Amino acid sequence: MANVGYDDTPVIPGSIYKVHDGERPQPRVVTPGTASTQDAPGTVPSDAVVLFDGSSLAGWVSLKDGSPAPWSLGAGFMEVVPKTGNIRSVAEFGDCQLHLEFASPAEVKGDSQGRGNSGVFLMGLYEIQVLDCYQNPTYADGTTGGIYGQYPPLVNACRPPAAWQQYDIVWEGPRFAGEKLLKPAYVTVFLNGLVLHNRQELQGPTQHRQLANYTPHAPVGPLVLQDHNDLVRFRNIWYRPLTWYDEV
Ligand code: MG
Repeated sequence: MANVGYDDTPVIPGSIYKVHDGERPQPRVVTPGTASTQDAPGTVPSDAVVLFDGSSLAGWVSLKDGSPAPWSLGAGFMEVVPKTGNIRSVAEFGDCQLHLEFASPAEVKGDSQGRGNSGVFLMGLYEIQVLDCYQNPTYADGTTGGIYGQYPPLVNACRPPAAWQQYDIVWEGPRFAGEKLLKPAYVTVFLNGLVLHNRQELQGPTQHRQLANYTPHAPVGPLVLQDHNDLVRFRNIWYRPLTWYDEV
């Protein structure tokens, strides 16, 4: 390592390193990806774990029984096959940065929760709503990007039906000690580049028409995508573990 930094500076409170410490470990080098366009997904960061690249459903199974994912594969995307049920990633993971793109059905039908409904369930339990909320009012905590049943998104940033839309999510799962909740889950969500939730504390796993409550679960889980009988499409799904976080 070149001779960088200082060794005659004060120690930073809460740290073993000095201000501008030349001995402080370097951040990992990661090659960033490129932005997606409507025509094509971008490339992924060099340290991303790819869950779906548009070429195969091999990394996905039926949530119900673990059989091969019963959704359809299009040209670079997957699409819900209504009434086949939710699917889950084979991979299980915990705290992460998640990227995912979706498109609402081109044919607009239904209203409120009946239009382009799907969902992204972090750890299989915590739903960030996917819905066609472009000129489609519904209850606020069920809006696209809402933490379903708990917190509406700060804004409705939906693009029109059939347009590709982008979620970027930072997820911190809850921590338990036996039956005790040590730390709740927190989520930060961007939709199409606009912040919807800023490290929002969750009240527990997603419920419908009920209050949420935590029950202990593992620090890892799958990503689950919802079949709500609408022809929602997904592409370009990847995550990066938040390995720079200290475990509780
Ligand atoms: Mg949903």
